[in-house]
Amino acid sequence: MRAMVLDAPLTPLRLAALPDPTPGDGQVLLRVRACGVCRTDLHIVDGELDRPKLPLIPGHQIVGEVVAGGDRFETGARLGVPWLGWTCGECRFCRSRAENLCDRARFTGYDFDGGYAELTVADERYCFPVPDGYADEQAAPLLCAGLIGYRSLRLAGDAERVGLYGFGASAHIICQVAVGQGHRVFAGTRAGDVETQTFARSLGAVWAGDALAGPPEELDAVIVFAPAGELVPAALRHVRKGGSVVCAGIHMSDIPSFPYELLWGERVLRSVANLTRDDGAEFLALAPTIPVRTEVETFGLEDANDALDRLRRGDLRGAAVLVLA
Ligand SMILES: [Zn+2]
Ligand SMILES: [Zn+2]
Repeated sequence: MRAMVLDAPLTPLRLAALPDPTPGDGQVLLRVRACGVCRTDLHIVDGELDRPKLPLIPGHQIVGEVVAGGDRFETGARLGVPWLGWTCGECRFCRSRAENLCDRARFTGYDFDGGYAELTVADERYCFPVPDGYADEQAAPLLCAGLIGYRSLRLAGDAERVGLYGFGASAHIICQVAVGQGHRVFAGTRAGDVETQTFARSLGAVWAGDALAGPPEELDAVIVFAPAGELVPAALRHVRKGGSVVCAGIHMSDIPSFPYELLWGERVLRSVANLTRDDGAEFLALAPTIPVRTEVETFGLEDANDALDRLRRGDLRGAAVLVLA
């Protein structure tokens, strides 16, 4: 099979011809049809997450078709493979419905080879059927950008006015969910990014502007998707007493120190880590009812480096997706 391989951090992915993988016990072999490009992939390639398997095939928003293996799904079934690839089932977190925090969790496209390839294997217990009505490339971003965004929105609590700071793949999906559920969405972007601000308004945001400066009214919650620590004190400044700031990324630059006054008044600052299978099932059932429409830009497998570069530069509208012929 053909695959894009990371040999070492801070080097471009290499197109390689590799032996086809074989499914082990409880694993399905999938023919990859599309794989979303996530900011986490970029953090891995850029050496900001420090313990990837190497060499590694990245990619954890996989839409594929079952070729063989496992017994939960029929051959030909269309499945999604998310970031959470395996959990121990025994630790205190697994036993309390918080498998996203499992001490021994293993992740797709990080601990296991992922979907920047023609074929991949995955533990069938962590795969989801992909909802009908979504083309492969349109479904792919639901599997991480959508799932993590959804978990973040849920953890933002009871919030009428929600800020989404960093309006990329995740925010463009969750904006639609939030608007559909009756929240008012305030989209924070880089100063002067008129194109993204226009895009956010087209998806129902009531305000779009510079995230650091903030909207003209107080918010109930802000979800910070951008990996920029300086947005955290800014977001705290923009939420009301008792409001929440939720950091949705797996990696963020250092958060500058800030006066206690910004946290005072029972404001809550928290992160969101990974996902549970319940999040996945819930979100994939919800998405078609909104209905969430994903805006994607597609790339060939061999153009994965280009897709990552565009994401690094913030030069994408919606989500980048690799589409396999
Ligand atoms: Zn566990
Ligand atoms: Zn991801």
